[in-house]
Amino acid sequence: MKKYLTLLATIAALCAGTAHAQDKALNLYSARHYSTDEALYNDFTKATGIKINRVDADDAGIIARLKAEGSASPADVILLVDAARLARGEQDGLFLPIKSKPLEDAIPASLRAQPAADGGIPWFGFSTRARVVVYDKIKVKPTEVDSYEKLADPQNKGKLCIRSGSHPYNLSLFGAVLEHMGPQKTEAWLKGLVDNMARPPKGGDTDQIKGVAAGECQIAVTNSYYLARLMRSSKPEDRAVAEKVGVVFPNQSSWGTHVNIAGAAVARHAKHVDSATKFLEYLASPSAQNYFANGNNEWPVAKGVSTDNPALKAMTGGSGQFKSETIPVGAVGANQVKVQQMLDRVGFK
Ligand code: FE
Repeated sequence: MKKYLTLLATIAALCAGTAHAQDKALNLYSARHYSTDEALYNDFTKATGIKINRVDADDAGIIARLKAEGSASPADVILLVDAARLARGEQDGLFLPIKSKPLEDAIPASLRAQPAADGGIPWFGFSTRARVVVYDKIKVKPTEVDSYEKLADPQNKGKLCIRSGSHPYNLSLFGAVLEHMGPQKTEAWLKGLVDNMARPPKGGDTDQIKGVAAGECQIAVTNSYYLARLMRSSKPEDRAVAEKVGVVFPNQSSWGTHVNIAGAAVARHAKHVDSATKFLEYLASPSAQNYFANGNNEWPVAKGVSTDNPALKAMTGGSGQFKSETIPVGAVGANQVKVQQMLDRVGFK
């Protein structure tokens, strides 16, 4: 409730602000909340003179907000952190497809939405995170968990920790597996994951990593940045957790590791479309890409930009690179409903 009231107060402030600075302001609804993003926004303001007013909420809160506000919404740019939620925002008509050569040149086609009827692109990915497997370095060999398929293998019975199947990160992973393996194999695989669980799903990704470090389970599934965060933490106890686990990027010898994105769109009822487009183009520039990705230990996506993040380099044997899947992230989001039905049938909480 407190969060909601704060949001309302901020929106009221934004509306008051736009009346004065119609052209030189940009209203951003963001599901990101990293201190490095401040530098990112300040650089944009310095370069363009366009001031950024920000509303922070989580993905679901932002989508609900936009729907409630309708055409009166002050939002110009929307930043979300999951492909399935970006797909949902697109389906709900919350985004204004935009035509921008710099963006289409910089962002790979698999990391942005399919073109709308008018040829504009409804949203673009600006950073990627990998859904990786961590394991107990003493009890498990990396070759026993080097593919998503192997997580369901009977040899891994009683070893797996994973958060709720209905969480967007897992819905996106399972939606990708559905694209790769088809419905029958995917449902059997999900049943195998349930059979292999060390405990019923609970907590977030970091809790699964900690479960392995504490010996509650031997294998866990997590987004790469949660592990990187522990590796780079100023707290010795966090680094001790990271020390105990190994990491593999699954399916390097087949279809590649599942990646999800943080992405942005211009709002359907944006009052500053030109500034909003300029801001997205700025996010695709090499300097902004590094800020944006490193702020949450993610990978930059613009062509020709590579990571210099020490944790991501350490995870990938020094290169900072790995083979990621190439199916369009938008298709993954569209599989959500089918995946949820399968989860209900196999009893994946
Ligand atoms: Fe997260």
